[in-house]
Amino acid sequence: IVEMTGVNKFYGSLQVLKDVDLSVEKGEVMVVIGPSGSGKSTLIRCVNGLEVYQQGEITVDGYQMPREEDRKIGGEKELAAIRKGVGMVFQQFNLFPHKTVLENISLAPMRVRRKSKAEAEANALRLLDRVGLKAHAAKYPAQLSGGQQQRVAIARALAMEPHIMLFDEPTSALDPEMVGEVLDVMRELAAEGMTMMIVTHEMGFAREVADRVVYIDQGAILEVAKPAQIFDAPQNERTRTFLSRVL
Ligand code: ATP
Ligand code: MG
Repeated sequence: IVEMTGVNKFYGSLQVLKDVDLSVEKGEVMVVIGPSGSGKSTLIRCVNGLEVYQQGEITVDGYQMPREEDRKIGGEKELAAIRKGVGMVFQQFNLFPHKTVLENISLAPMRVRRKSKAEAEANALRLLDRVGLKAHAAKYPAQLSGGQQQRVAIARALAMEPHIMLFDEPTSALDPEMVGEVLDVMRELAAEGMTMMIVTHEMGFAREVADRVVYIDQGAILEVAKPAQIFDAPQNERTRTFLSRVL
């Protein structure tokens, strides 16, 4: 469902992705790990076009993600088509503070997918139920805990019926006691067969839920393997060094 070939990305003269080849299969859970500044966020943000890339090829759901030069001459159509199918959850939940939980989830389906209010709200309630927050539909984000807000953010992304979900350190801003409830929701999504790319420092979760783990360092993918392989027998010396620091 995601295919990256020879992807290079630069910020000015700084190269932040180096010849990245990576594919994510339908239903696969891919966890991305690596040191701070290694390019994890950049990598997954390229998949929904939040970042531009200069060289190589990225296809998502059969659409070719326009490169930087192509965006200037059109390419908005592909970008819009891709974005519709890709859900994203950030470290900071980015909910609309002046909208209720229900509105946060139902607005985009009404505006972008042209759903009726009744349909969008019914679907939002169903999703809230799924993340265990049905009783909080009428509240505002500030009235919820961080873990609850992040679960709303997940429900909001799911409301667009994405084919793939991207998570960028979804639990890093949470108090420790709230990490589990968010990981539980993600675990359920994985079990239901959702395709996911997840940047996380939760190595226990990665080992348990990932189909494959990617180790990225200085913009280059140094290792892609099943979790048992990466964690128990990393092939690359830099992977080993990184893991010995975080495990
Ligand atoms: P972290 O674990 O701290 O979130 P990361 O692995 O997600 O790090 P990225 O945020 O992808 O790393 O950053 C990769 C590199 O790109 C870093 O060297 C960073 O300084 C650089 N970078 C990121 N955003 C920009 C920007 N807007 N302009 C210039 N350089 C940037
Ligand atoms: Mg990051």
